[in-house]
Amino acid sequence: MVKALILHGGAGSWRASKVKEKALETMKKCTAEAWTELIKKGSAIEAVVYAVKCMEDSGYLNAGVGSVPDILGNRTLDAGIMTSNGLLGAVAGVTRTKNPIILARIVAEETPHIIIGGYGADELAVAKKLPLLPPPPKHVIERYYEGLQKLFKGEIKSEFWKGIWRFIENNKDYLEAVKEIMDVSDTVGAVAVDDNGVLAAAVSTGGVIFKLPGRIGDSPIPGAGFYADENVACSATGFGERIIETMPCRMLSELVRQSMKFKDAINEVIKHANELVGTNTMGFIAVSKDGEIGWAYNTEAMLIGYVSREGEIVTDFKP
Ligand code: ASP
Repeated sequence: MVKALILHGGAGSWRASKVKEKALETMKKCTAEAWTELIKKGSAIEAVVYAVKCMEDSGYLNAGVGSVPDILGNRTLDAGIMTSNGLLGAVAGVTRTKNPIILARIVAEETPHIIIGGYGADELAVAKKLPLLPPPPKHVIERYYEGLQKLFKGEIKSEFWKGIWRFIENNKDYLEAVKEIMDVSDTVGAVAVDDNGVLAAAVSTGGVIFKLPGRIGDSPIPGAGFYADENVACSATGFGERIIETMPCRMLSELVRQSMKFKDAINEVIKHANELVGTNTMGFIAVSKDGEIGWAYNTEAMLIGYVSREGEIVTDFKP
């Protein structure tokens, strides 16, 4: 009987995080509960949705309640889900729902579409009476203001955020808006396989902090932020732009389809990402139809949680 589950709580450095311990506790809780769900219901889909919803609800990870703001202080959330037996749905740029993963599942199960974005996705959430997104937790607001100060002072070294800042400085309206704000974490994902041989992948995010309003990342894009077929399921995290350029989850599926061993394929995908878009860009988790779990990242750390073959819950920032 094959059964396996692995969760991620985001790739990055995690060094400066003020909620590291809470994030770790969240991971433990969500992994344990999603594993029980997998055993109880025997369904990979229920397990990954449970896992991602649990992380969205926590407020300590960059998804759902804990989602980080864009450069103007607003939050827009993305999520996606896919299974080996035909379920595929995603939402992009949603502002009203606490659990974009539930909304993505509704898109997959109840509509003829694959991605619904913006106001339409918000209206769908209201029509389906999904719980509203509450205001951001204190630690998210602090992270936003502290980061904004650093951007203003030119203290942020990352080329990605420097690029956003260059755009702000060159566009007066944006600069004025950010100045007014001055006056006054990470993505989650889960993959699982169940006794019936169904593989499922799910992902949910607030996107990268300080993104420009309207920016959509990799998380609602099948093949980039998530993917599942009859051999593997994969969920990614990192700079969405770099993930879209490399399509790691689709590449993993293709390599395994061409008979590459699961672990070798994982190594090949991250090697390809390093060559194509450089290191410090992404990470991903994966599960195979045979119940193997795997992960790779080229960032300083990636928070993961899984259940070992002995049934032990393992969580780690630098696995
Ligand atoms: N991949 C997400 C995005 O770019 C962010 C993350 O993984 O933290 O929207």
